[in-house]
Amino acid sequence: MIVVAGATGQLGRLVVEGLLAKVPAAEIAVAVRSAEKAADWAAQGVDVRVVDYDRPETLAAAFGAGDKVLLISGNAVGARIPQHTAVVEAAKAAEVTLLAYTGILGGDDANFALADDHKGTEAAILASGLPYVFLRNGWYTENYTANAAVALQHGAVVGSNGDARIATATRRDYADAAVEVLTGEGHENRVYELSGDVAWSFSEYAAALAAASGKPVEYRDVPAEQHQAVLVGAGLPEGFAAILVEVDAAIARGELARHQGELSKLIGRPTTPLAETVAAAV
Ligand code: NDP
Repeated sequence: MIVVAGATGQLGRLVVEGLLAKVPAAEIAVAVRSAEKAADWAAQGVDVRVVDYDRPETLAAAFGAGDKVLLISGNAVGARIPQHTAVVEAAKAAEVTLLAYTGILGGDDANFALADDHKGTEAAILASGLPYVFLRNGWYTENYTANAAVALQHGAVVGSNGDARIATATRRDYADAAVEVLTGEGHENRVYELSGDVAWSFSEYAAALAAASGKPVEYRDVPAEQHQAVLVGAGLPEGFAAILVEVDAAIARGELARHQGELSKLIGRPTTPLAETVAAAV
């Protein structure tokens, strides 16, 4: 059985879709908080197991001996090490044969707070002794294109990264990599640093928005404090805005620009070009 934990999230949905195209539904299970959100899959024969990482007792029946498990990192930033450790312990107790985890590009070398939960989770997986795969995902292109309308409205993409480069790929690209790892052979105990084939600059992103919309858009680089104020003004909580500003500092240092082709190699095709994702969003 292949079990996807976090399946009802944006990445997880694409992973399950990819699995359903490759293996029979009867060989797929999802470990999710809400059975309703997974009702469409249940109707197709996918086994739905209701879990909550905050209630470890719910994880006892989530996995079985011989399962291959994908743990998609949760979204409770700062609370994820105990949550994910509970999943690792349940997987260990069930004697699963593979535990794949979606971490962060750079792993232990990632030098920003958002990476801490991922580092802690990878350490817990290594300590468990289970066969693992670390899918260290770079940034999603959609992190930016989801805000395309705001950028078009203001004629500006605002950041504090010094117009540095970043090698993003789409959620679909990363999902396809997870599907390959869960259905292919020879991935045990491998670490994949996954990112887009092309590292683009924020001016290039603004130009792509302008080209796709026919409206003027520029990249506006601002000091970190001003970036924080812009994000808070747009409705983000202070703490999360600070995390994103810190990420921009990491982007300025080039930490998210690594693009050594591991993602396209794993999925057997080029990663989705920025212009294509921008055009779809505009
Ligand atoms: P989502 O927020 O859409 O998905 C997170 C998933 O985790 C959801 O399915 C959610 O369940 C599940 N989850 C959260 N808490 C619990 C819990 N206590 N018990 C059980 N399940 C839980 O994120 P994405 O799919 O877009 O991205 C996946 C992960 O990648 C994120 O959670 C985050 O760690 C990371 N990320 C990476 C980014 C990048 O650019 N590489 C950008 C943003 C996030 P439910 O459906 O019930 O809410």
